[in-house]
Amino acid sequence: MGKPMGFLEYERKTRPEISPEKRIENFEEFHLALDKEECRIQAARCMDCGIPFCQSGVKYGTAFSGCPLHNLIPEYNDEIFQGNWKQAAARLLKTNNFPEFTGRVCPALCENACVCGINDTPVTTHDNEYAIIEEAFANGWITPEPPEIRSGKRVAVVGSGPAGLAVADCLNKRGHSVTVFEKADRPGGLLMYGIPGMKLDKSVVQRRTDLMEAEGVEFLLNADVGKDLSAGNLVDEYDAVVLCCGSRIPRDVEVPGRDAKGIVYAVDYLTESTKSVLGMIRETSMNAKGRDVVVVGGGDTGNDCVGTAIRQGCKSIVQLDRNPKGPEQSSASSWPLKDRIYRRDYGQEEAMALFGADPRMFSSTVKEIRKDEEGNVREIVTIQIVKSTDKNGRRTITEIQGSEETIPCDLLILAAGFAGCEDYVADSFGVTRAGNGTLKTGEGQYATNVPGVFAAGDARRGSSLVVWAIAEGRACAKEVDLFLMEYTNM
Ligand SMILES: Cc1cc2nc3c(=O)[nH]c(=O)nc-3n(C[C@H](O)[C@H](O)[C@H](O)COP(=O)(O)OP(=O)(O)OC[C@H]3O[C@@H](n4cnc5c(N)ncnc54)[C@H](O)[C@@H]3O)c2cc1C
Ligand code: SF4
Repeated sequence: MGKPMGFLEYERKTRPEISPEKRIENFEEFHLALDKEECRIQAARCMDCGIPFCQSGVKYGTAFSGCPLHNLIPEYNDEIFQGNWKQAAARLLKTNNFPEFTGRVCPALCENACVCGINDTPVTTHDNEYAIIEEAFANGWITPEPPEIRSGKRVAVVGSGPAGLAVADCLNKRGHSVTVFEKADRPGGLLMYGIPGMKLDKSVVQRRTDLMEAEGVEFLLNADVGKDLSAGNLVDEYDAVVLCCGSRIPRDVEVPGRDAKGIVYAVDYLTESTKSVLGMIRETSMNAKGRDVVVVGGGDTGNDCVGTAIRQGCKSIVQLDRNPKGPEQSSASSWPLKDRIYRRDYGQEEAMALFGADPRMFSSTVKEIRKDEEGNVREIVTIQIVKSTDKNGRRTITEIQGSEETIPCDLLILAAGFAGCEDYVADSFGVTRAGNGTLKTGEGQYATNVPGVFAAGDARRGSSLVVWAIAEGRACAKEVDLFLMEYTNM
């Protein structure tokens, strides 16, 4: 810790943002960088508190606190303060394969657990991570590092999202020959086609996969395992197979009028938008320009759809959130967990700037979809709900009769969550699934019921976060290495 009283001397300052009015003109990242001296001051706020809860990554009941990757946060904060940026990058890369992703999109579980945050504002750990890795790339410190010796073992990874990339990166660096099979036309999973460019520029994803390719990882694109390629062949030809195919079954809404035209799933919508921004396709029927858009789902995915629809030039936007509106302030400290106060994400801020109101209708869901004569969605009937828990601990939802509202809609985007791994992938490998549709493994383990076949990321865990996908990928790679070599030094 370079500055013992830094946390008393300096105020928290996060990366500046382009204003909502300006940034909605394009799909470019809108978070700017702090200069190096400002980063140094922010790093000086880390008080090396003795027990770094920020890097603990522990479970409290069903909640989780601290960094799942156990990033060495006080250590790299100190390196920034001392001006040792190269050492800071070395520290960071010890635990995190892809800080350029987490430094942009991680919700920073570490900051909820920061001791400075108990009675003040937490250290800007997330932004510091971004600063370190971008400094490392800018200075040419990140260069291809292929392994010196190959083990002769071959591993197939199915899916190139953050989990698949982490597995591939770790096993390749260990000396195994890794082929990543990806059904999309570009690698990256939801990093490429899901999370929009204003949160994570696609050149950042490409920069990493190019680097991995230069290090010897082979990417086979447009390769749908279980359809174009036989699962049996992969099992026969490779020494191990790792399924990192995500949790890609979208949850539907089962209400009258669901068969209307003009209803799309969020990931399909966001994928089309990114492809159009990248110039890979022309504008499609999914484009929100001039339309009354309703997004079903109050989570991050729904917010990304709001931000995307606004950039496309929608006429109006409403987001249905089943949860009640949180309080403006928290009465008790939630440390080391996230509090549940009312917040606005970037898309909702943009809707405020453009239309003058938060687009969310809280405690609301869709009750009916109404069509015009051609079968196109025309309006949505919403209803208010109350969520509660019955005496057996089961969650119940009660509709409030008479609370129906009718709103115009000619593009309905479903962002209601995901229901696990697609059937054909699990079935083609004969992998057993858990009740929630994920691929089943032992607790804290990655081997499936099929010998030599492993699973990691959203496919195993259920839809989660990029940081968790990377953490699962790293832990799974270690288990695969042990399986291949009968010992592991990873
Ligand atoms: C819109 C959206 C926004 C999000 N925003 C954030 C965020 O801001 N921060 C955050 O931390 N998390 C965010 N998440 C969650 C995060 O993106 C996921 O938790 C993470 O990407 C999961 O990684 P994964 O590698 O397990 O799966 P995925 O990223 O889903 O990758 C799975 C890959 O497997 C491929 N695949 C599937 N089946 C096959 C097959 N049969 N053959 C070959 N390839 C196959 C898919 O094409 C895909 O590329 C967001 C999710 C969504 C949907
Ligand atoms: S990966 Fe996420 S939780 Fe971990 S240190 Fe970085 S921002 Fe914090």
